[in-house]
Amino acid sequence: TKIISFESSADETSVAIVEDGHIILSNAVATQINSHQRFGGIVPEVASRHHIEWITRVLDDALQTADVKPTELDAVAVTYGPGLVGSLLVGLMGAKTFALAHNLPIIPVNHLAGHIAAANFNQPIIYPALALMVSGGHTELVLMHEENSFAVLGETRDDAAGESFDKVGRLLKLPYPAGKTIDEMAHRGQATIKFPTAMAHEDNYDFSFSGLKSAVINYVHHAEQKGEIINHDDLATSFQNAVVDALIGRTRRALKDFPVKSFILAGGVAANTQLRQELATLLETIPETQFIPVPHQYTGDNAAMIGAAGYWHYKQKKFAGLDLNTDPGLDFDLLKG
Ligand code: ATP
Ligand code: FE
Ligand code: MG
Repeated sequence: TKIISFESSADETSVAIVEDGHIILSNAVATQINSHQRFGGIVPEVASRHHIEWITRVLDDALQTADVKPTELDAVAVTYGPGLVGSLLVGLMGAKTFALAHNLPIIPVNHLAGHIAAANFNQPIIYPALALMVSGGHTELVLMHEENSFAVLGETRDDAAGESFDKVGRLLKLPYPAGKTIDEMAHRGQATIKFPTAMAHEDNYDFSFSGLKSAVINYVHHAEQKGEIINHDDLATSFQNAVVDALIGRTRRALKDFPVKSFILAGGVAANTQLRQELATLLETIPETQFIPVPHQYTGDNAAMIGAAGYWHYKQKKFAGLDLNTDPGLDFDLLKG
């Protein structure tokens, strides 16, 4: 089964062709990060315009690289939420037009389910599975009893993990998005500052990162007032330790309460080297649970992951009509049950 997929929820325009949910025939990605960097974040109007400019080129690229003709395809998968409405609309229109022109069924895909499905590019997910989905806009612990089924155990009450990296990055005047840069700085620094790990003792699976962000901002402002020079690498190490501690603590707890066959690490923050390393170490102590992190190159937004999740729907014959609309605020709760 060959599925062509479209992803345009934020600042990546991407089209992929994936066979049987795990063989990537092509994955064309055009990123617009350079256009947004001077604003320190995504500007929605600029993003939509870029998607319109790039979508047909990215589509041609995906078809050419895969060396697949439209007649050989079985379905069109598309991200319909969550994300920026103007951005989502461009991918959705592209997908609908392609489906109509080539008489193919449309599969609506939740972007977050896509992030998780990308674990199948590492090895087949074994169920029941627990997923830690950490990205620019979301931080969730999700229990999957079976394929394409999601029950949210816990989520962030304020900032997402990736968002906290980006906000600390903005404070340190690092280019947006700052996750990768802070990750690199953290390797060079020392954990000289003790920041709080939020909610460590609370009886749930939720996260909170706004307190940590405030603590970092206060630390920097106090130092500036006293005329002290801060070692930014040390600050990065100390901050990243606090984020990783919080993520690991909740994960350890959930893994204890819900014995699962596999544990998935997904979303843009899954690229973080310290998080990957410490989770790998934790999972070594739980031999009955297989650690399946999304391969590093598929952690960020891409259409291949939408093709992987689209295949789940395809097998269940969950298709949409040409009246499919975007759902910018979509989350996992709508997929429950
Ligand atoms: P969502 O998926 O919630 O809709 P998004 O699509 O914008 O949000 P992703 O593209 O999945 O988010 O992830 C981007 C985030 O990942 C950014 O916040 C970025 O800083 C972060 N990130 C990327 N690489 C790293 C890294 N090595 N360490 C920490 N964070 C990282
Ligand atoms: Fe994403
Ligand atoms: Mg992104």
